[in-house]
Amino acid sequence: MIAVCEILEKQELSRQDIIRLLSITDKGDQELLIKKAYSIKESTIGRKVYLRGLIEFSNYCRKNCYYCGIRSGNNKVARYSLSDDEILQVVEFAQKQQLKGIVLQSGELNRSDFTKRITALITKIKNAANPEFRITLSLGEQSLETYQRWFDAGAQRYLLRIETSNEDLYKKIHPADGLHSFKVRLRCLEDIQKTGYMTGTGVMIGLPFQTIENLTDDLLFIKERDIDMVGMGPYLEHADTPLYDHKDLLMPLMERFNLSIRMIAVLRIMMPDINIASTTALQSIFPLGRELGLKAGANVMMPNITPLKYRRSYLLYDNKPCIDEEADDCWDCLEKRIKMIGEEIVRNEYGDSKHFINRIQID
Ligand code: SAH
Ligand code: SF4
Repeated sequence: MIAVCEILEKQELSRQDIIRLLSITDKGDQELLIKKAYSIKESTIGRKVYLRGLIEFSNYCRKNCYYCGIRSGNNKVARYSLSDDEILQVVEFAQKQQLKGIVLQSGELNRSDFTKRITALITKIKNAANPEFRITLSLGEQSLETYQRWFDAGAQRYLLRIETSNEDLYKKIHPADGLHSFKVRLRCLEDIQKTGYMTGTGVMIGLPFQTIENLTDDLLFIKERDIDMVGMGPYLEHADTPLYDHKDLLMPLMERFNLSIRMIAVLRIMMPDINIASTTALQSIFPLGRELGLKAGANVMMPNITPLKYRRSYLLYDNKPCIDEEADDCWDCLEKRIKMIGEEIVRNEYGDSKHFINRIQID
């Protein structure tokens, strides 16, 4: 078997190399991988962290994904939607914290009252924000026209995780009800890219039925599709979801955590100039999880700035962190923790994906 240090010397990783790196069990090998990924991040991006304030503004959702706590079929969830004024107050808070961007995330709705409201909201946020900042959307599958309208209103980035690039696995984790189609998800991702957004995708790691080969293909998918931003994190079970029935198939949490760290590191080696988020799901397994994600090559964090009273109703998975703290408290500890690992929060740059900038220049 080829040694990990030899693989890390290569210019281009083959599928077999990626499988080998993701399968690492030796602690020393994992450290080598992380060191290599971090050195690439240092030379392309620097010891920098870009922050986006995450606003989970509504948990109404028309979908019923088998893994997600706020799926429409979960009637234990108290549904909420922030008013425009409440969202604008959060935007004001984000500006006070000198954030250069926010992420608007919600369950998926596609009725015209919703899509129109979002168009108007983007305009309102644009008008209220001074200095100007970037708006990222994470609102699921929409028509090309809707993506275009929101882009024209001023949103620059869109996150739509493919969840898994394997169609069979996709089918296992979604109901076959005509609303959850792998092909449609893929088409939406293409439409987002076509519209001109900085395009983000990602997958869940450690799903039941998922193999290392599946995850390898996910990384190759991200590279082939020329993705600009990636958010990947461990799958975490939620007791009120159908996938919970398969919890006996799951690998232990720390293994899921380490595999997620290796996914980040390998992706950084494969795509030196993209933005990679260190996700909240990492923090749920391990309090310093997001910091370890940064040390493995991630360069973006999305602190939750949703008003506290709503956070308990946006539980995609069990044991989600920071649902009992005020946004400000989370903010303070975040700053200290990032300094502690020798990284710096960047406040005077948007932190656009360098991959996007390079991609646009070539086109
Ligand atoms: N409704 C939108 C955005 C909100 S969900 C959408 O689905 O695109 C955002 C992400 O949360 C999903 O893409 C999924 O990857 C993640 N997620 C949902 N349930 C999860 C779980 N149980 N564990 C880990 N991540 C989960
Ligand atoms: Fe809805 Fe997104 Fe959860 Fe699926 S993952 S049920 S689309 S919020």
